[in-house]
Amino acid sequence: MLANSILDIKGVGEKFAEDLEGLNIYSIEDLLLYFPSRYDVFEIKPLSELIHEDKVTIEGRVLADPSLSFYGRKKSRLTFMVEVENVAVKAVMFNRAFAKNQLTSGEMVTLTGKWDAHRLQITVSNFTKGSLEKDSAIQPIYSVKGNITNYKLKKVIQEAIKSYGEQMEEILPQDYITAYKIPTRSEAIQTMHFPTNRIALKHARRRFTYEEFLLFQLKIQVLRKQRREASVGNAQDYDATKVEQFINQFPFTLTNAQSKSLQQILTDMKSPYRMNRLLQGDVGSGKTAVAAIALYAAVTAHKQGALMVPTEILAEQHYHSLTELFGDLARVELLTGSVKGKKRKEILAAVENHEIQILVGTHALIQDDVFFDELGLVIVDEQHRFGVEQRRLLSNKGLHPDVLFMTATPIPRTLAITAFGDMDVSVINEMPAGRKEIETYWTKANSFERVLQFIEKRVQEGEQAYIICPLIEESDKLDIQDAVDLHQQLLDYYSTSLQVGLMHGRLHSNEKDQVMKEFAANEIQILVSTTVVEVGVNVPNATIMVIYDAERFGLSQLHQLRGRVGRGDKQSYCILIADPKSETGKERMRIMTETNDGFELAEQDLKLRGPGDFFGTKQSGLPEFKVADMIHDYRALETARNDAQEIVEFNLLEEDPKFKKIRDLLAVEGIFDTKLD
Ligand code: ADP
Ligand code: MG
Repeated sequence: MLANSILDIKGVGEKFAEDLEGLNIYSIEDLLLYFPSRYDVFEIKPLSELIHEDKVTIEGRVLADPSLSFYGRKKSRLTFMVEVENVAVKAVMFNRAFAKNQLTSGEMVTLTGKWDAHRLQITVSNFTKGSLEKDSAIQPIYSVKGNITNYKLKKVIQEAIKSYGEQMEEILPQDYITAYKIPTRSEAIQTMHFPTNRIALKHARRRFTYEEFLLFQLKIQVLRKQRREASVGNAQDYDATKVEQFINQFPFTLTNAQSKSLQQILTDMKSPYRMNRLLQGDVGSGKTAVAAIALYAAVTAHKQGALMVPTEILAEQHYHSLTELFGDLARVELLTGSVKGKKRKEILAAVENHEIQILVGTHALIQDDVFFDELGLVIVDEQHRFGVEQRRLLSNKGLHPDVLFMTATPIPRTLAITAFGDMDVSVINEMPAGRKEIETYWTKANSFERVLQFIEKRVQEGEQAYIICPLIEESDKLDIQDAVDLHQQLLDYYSTSLQVGLMHGRLHSNEKDQVMKEFAANEIQILVSTTVVEVGVNVPNATIMVIYDAERFGLSQLHQLRGRVGRGDKQSYCILIADPKSETGKERMRIMTETNDGFELAEQDLKLRGPGDFFGTKQSGLPEFKVADMIHDYRALETARNDAQEIVEFNLLEEDPKFKKIRDLLAVEGIFDTKLD
């Protein structure tokens, strides 16, 4: 049985099984589906065509048993002669003493390594026994660790395929296989591990790419359908008149895009279905205003609202602006990691008995000891900073709250339909009227003094500036040192003519608070900071954003930072200081100076950096595929999505027997048996 332990495979003992577990291989099926991470392609050429010092592959017969010599500590050298096209070639292999017993006189071998044309000698980096299929060969390279070598793994997979390969059942319906001209599951598995030629490999990969995408799309579509159908009774009966009045108190009218998004959100809130909506909008497009209105709607429905943000600074800022906005309409409180002791206890009690209607905070909001009376709406700002686990905790909390995720990182379509495929999406694709485009410049580090002079001039006009130093991790001492040093440098440079503040993650939250207050009040004119100010900070009088070592940031992050300025009616500037070495680095700087369009930048970023890096961290919530690649296999992704839509819409998983295998697979993953929410 495929589900049996790998111990059932001939040649796998306790020790080896333990090593395989290190690669997350437990069952025979796991092993068969442990595909190579890449392939080496070898091509055999006649000796006369081999180029001196090139990496080459030759094939020949071992002329005599290899001789092994040791030198130094633990170093070894294996030498043997190989007959290639009737010529004797010398082969040398370092530190692979074990190969001595595998290479016996008279045997055919294929050797890859560096060629020395003068001495007719090859320094072997890779060898296989036997001759290659015709004139080329594709060697699977697995990602291995510990005691497991590529060779050992290949051997055991070969054994597993021999004994169990046939048992690998097809899960896709036959008509799909025919229509897409893809190999069956067991054929494709065989090919993935032991490809005979490139074409076959391409088709095997195509098959698994489609299979992975289809299963993934089915999963999210089924979840989405279940969520829509599960009437959990959290219809929020808000007071439309009061909400209207609340909107009228803003000093501006909502843009069309804001109104439309708001309407979609309110409709979701009113319906008994649980909202799971993503609100996308470029920095400064006015998402926060929409969020505030939605929170107020929840309050008028006698529910509570929570606003969760990634940093304490941002939490405090939202807390202040919401307190001001709500006045007597609702009690707003702040709950972050630094709210402790008596104060925290008091807040927790008031949340539990509904004295607090709106709670703003970092992920302290979703800790175990926080109990809401009636949580109606949860808003997660800059959602890409939150991991899957946090999302889940949040959803599990309270009384099936409606959930709205807000992000200023425009999400390219590719990622939107994978990472967020189970969400409804609202887009604010319009900026409030009267905004001036931010002018972006790129200069080299040696022009820094000119930048400082420019800042001084603007400051004399009453404006303010940010100077951002890269910070990869908040705990990275070195990076904080950069900001501290730069701060000192500026203090020296400007002496007393203007005030320079410093902000970084190591400051206590009351210190951060103080610095932010002083900056907002224009008591500090220049704020040197790490990226802690990245998201959501709003000081409309700041018109200059200088980003130091800008090449160390991704495009989306640069765009986020740039969005800290251009928030008022004055002309704003973004100055990138960077000496990128690579072409892509230079390309990134150029793109930044050329466009202010967040969506376009996101697409470019994705192209330049790939999906793994796109969200910055591991906790991106992106699915991991074994074979499929979201960017390159985008067409397959769309096909799979369309197929999944049809299957789910017509209940085929439940009703058509040809999907039974797939349904069983999804059931194992808990898709059908667990209750949602
Ligand atoms: P986001 O959260 O999308 O970055 P904010 O909600 O913080 O954007 O809005 C940015 C700035 O624009 C704020 O100062 C806000 O008061 C203002 N603003 C929001 N909506 C409008 C609008 N419709 N017209 C004019 N100004 C607006
Ligand atoms: Mg915002």
